[in-house]
Amino acid sequence: MNNPKLNEQVDARRTFAIISHPDAGKTTITEQLLLFGGAIRQAGTVKGKKTGNFAKSDWMEIEKQRGISVTSSVMQFDYEGKRVNILDTPGHEDFSEDTYRTLMAVDSAVMVIDSAKGIEAQTKKLFQVVKKRGIPIFTFINKLDRDGREPLDLLEELEELLDIESYPMNWPIGMGKGLEGLYDIHNKRVELYRPENYDGERFIPLNEDGQIPADHKLSEDGIYQQVLEEVELLKEAGDAFDVEKIAAGNQTPVFFGSALTNFGVQTMLETFLQFAPKPHAHKTESGEAVSPYEEEFSGFVFKIQANMNPAHRDRIAFVRICSGTFERGMDVVLERTNKKMKLSNVTQFMADTRENVQEAVAGDIIGVYDTGNYQIGDTIYEGKLKVAYEELPSFTPELFMKVASKNVMKQKSFHKGIYQLVQEGAIQLYKTYLTDEYIIGAVGQLQFEVFQYRMLNEYNSEVVMTPMGSKIARWIKPEDLDERMSSSRNILAKDRFDQPLFLFENQFAMRWFADKYPDVELKTLL
Ligand code: GDP
Repeated sequence: MNNPKLNEQVDARRTFAIISHPDAGKTTITEQLLLFGGAIRQAGTVKGKKTGNFAKSDWMEIEKQRGISVTSSVMQFDYEGKRVNILDTPGHEDFSEDTYRTLMAVDSAVMVIDSAKGIEAQTKKLFQVVKKRGIPIFTFINKLDRDGREPLDLLEELEELLDIESYPMNWPIGMGKGLEGLYDIHNKRVELYRPENYDGERFIPLNEDGQIPADHKLSEDGIYQQVLEEVELLKEAGDAFDVEKIAAGNQTPVFFGSALTNFGVQTMLETFLQFAPKPHAHKTESGEAVSPYEEEFSGFVFKIQANMNPAHRDRIAFVRICSGTFERGMDVVLERTNKKMKLSNVTQFMADTRENVQEAVAGDIIGVYDTGNYQIGDTIYEGKLKVAYEELPSFTPELFMKVASKNVMKQKSFHKGIYQLVQEGAIQLYKTYLTDEYIIGAVGQLQFEVFQYRMLNEYNSEVVMTPMGSKIARWIKPEDLDERMSSSRNILAKDRFDQPLFLFENQFAMRWFADKYPDVELKTLL
């Protein structure tokens, strides 16, 4: 623990994910951040599908079609002495359990909200996973250059829908065509949107009364006067800035801005880096935690990207480093099998500045090439550390398909494939309670496509899938089970541990059930 160089490296790490609903502006913000960090030279390079820049590293067919690329799974850059890791949380059709699991590997999250739309469905789901972990959540309300909802209204929605205190770090002065700037409460300055319309200075410091100099042109503007009143109101009625609450994920600092016009993003980044946590100690199965300053290497697999190249059948296991220093070629133990593994074929996600010493420590992510040894949730460790990190949670699936082998003569490969893919965490498996038909569950459509593709390519098993649509899955206690409770609107099933659950057709069916059987407790996975 007493290795000053390691300690210093760990202290510089900031590892986070951006969570948002599709189209809120996650890609645009990510690009801005990478630009500030010097990791890219031009905006428009993050998503392969827009430019084709990453075409070479797209391995899997599905990946190619969708333009997902492993290089954008983790993005690293240096900024003001910090080494920043951004973990991508795929959305749209690429939304999957991996998206959720990625949130297990970060130390904080930035939630991006479209100022015209407010809290949307996917933001809410991702937020809940982050909230459960009790890690800091920062909010960026985007698209201020367009007419959106009233800032107060947005904060209110945030508090109500997400049940978290909010603290505005800055406050918009106008919006849309009338956007003049940000009243930066935290940094005690006004940041002008179009400084060229004034005297060219972007930042105007506030005096002790929280005002810009009376002779500044903006000072006469009605909208500025209105903001002063709103800020006064916030001070009186709002919650106080509380570092401890932020650290525990009970208060979210809120920033406003416009990613497209590169306004407010740098302010957000700089303030975020002041408060975002460094790598934390990770809990093991025994309940103890391993310090990030521990000198022996350890980490856990939070995501497996499979079958990148059909010719080689290779996969990549993403490992979050929890302690020690990664060195190429090092020997580690895979805890689950107690097997010795050599970490030689490894992708690092280093910033593109060659002079950087490419060392990976706690907080960093490495991608280990794998021929089928690793599973999601696996721990690897060096030497005598002998740790097993806490199991990753399972997430309640929302989409379901009935599956069967197309060729009845090939049941064996069907079963082998399905059980291995379930083990690996690629998909969740259920059976109807009485008839033992196979049902697979996922949180996103892509998981089904990957499943079907891998069954065929890796297990030579052609599967027939019959969509059941979205369902609400709720587990019940085995002692509450009564087969007569099952109907077409609430299908009784069992999971792979033989635990009973219902697949409800919709909210209405679930409420009807809850009314009819008030004593039966309905539980989710997370
Ligand atoms: P993602 O799906 O969350 O990654 O969103 P993108 O970053 O791809 O943005 C979705 C759309 O919103 C794109 O057309 C962007 O150009 C646009 N957009 C992003 N940020 C802003 C913004 O600050 N203002 C405006 N007007 N449009 C934006």
